[in-house]
Amino acid sequence: MERKYKFIVNPVAGPDDNVKYFKSLKAELRDRGIPFSSKKTKRAGHAGKLVRKRLGKPKAVIVSVGGDGTFNEVASVLVGTNRLMAHIPRGSGNGLARMLKIPSQIRKIADYLESGVTKSIDVGQINEDYFFCTCGFGFDALIAHHFDGSEKRGLKGYVNYVCRSFFRFKGVDAKFALDGEAFVGRYFAVTIANANQYGNNAFIAPLADLEDGLLDVTMIKPFPLWYAPFLGIALFGKFIHKSRYVETRKVKEVDIESLSLSYFHRDGDVYHLELPAKITVLPRVLNLLVPSC
Ligand SMILES: [Mg+2]
Repeated sequence: MERKYKFIVNPVAGPDDNVKYFKSLKAELRDRGIPFSSKKTKRAGHAGKLVRKRLGKPKAVIVSVGGDGTFNEVASVLVGTNRLMAHIPRGSGNGLARMLKIPSQIRKIADYLESGVTKSIDVGQINEDYFFCTCGFGFDALIAHHFDGSEKRGLKGYVNYVCRSFFRFKGVDAKFALDGEAFVGRYFAVTIANANQYGNNAFIAPLADLEDGLLDVTMIKPFPLWYAPFLGIALFGKFIHKSRYVETRKVKEVDIESLSLSYFHRDGDVYHLELPAKITVLPRVLNLLVPSC
């Protein structure tokens, strides 16, 4: 049976004009005779609303066109529903899309929609909310907090702030359990990962598998200043799990009892974490279209 597509387009996502990008994509789909319709989102939260409206209607593949935020909203409604979704990555991080090798170039996207196959992936749950890529606390959450809703996202401002706070950051005192194993101590960052990277090819959990029913926890302990460049190389080189300041576990459940710094991120965005918090994995509950090879 021929697939139909319903696009949920975030017009303000992306490195350049997403409206122009989507126009080119529409032209390509028309040329190929691929049936589709589309809706633009008007504000944060609107994508989820549009998808909820579609749930009772004929079964078009729902396609999010935007960044990780748009993906989250759409996917959160579709978890556990058996509906198929696709994603066109237009954000800056795109961790999940990068891991699954979902392209963004127009012709390749049309190929992906035409010949992609369904993959049922795991989804992480924190308290009542979902995450698809990573969540956690520590230095990365502090940075996410500083840049939340801010226009200061320019690379220069970003690098400047990361460097300044790096020198001041003393770590987070945390008390948590991984499948019942207790951890108490000071950490530079602790990441609970469903996907293997934050985005931008920063592989915080190189061994993560989206279909194993487990979360990969990467715990980075405080390290001396001279070690920072090595840690950076290990992060982008896919071997951070081998670092002497890093400990990892594959688990089904994370229970966080207390944190000395309350900053927490979910898929790179600031998240208000209610403590104590329970983080679990829902095995293979999201049907995602992935490229066929
Ligand atoms: Mg896994």
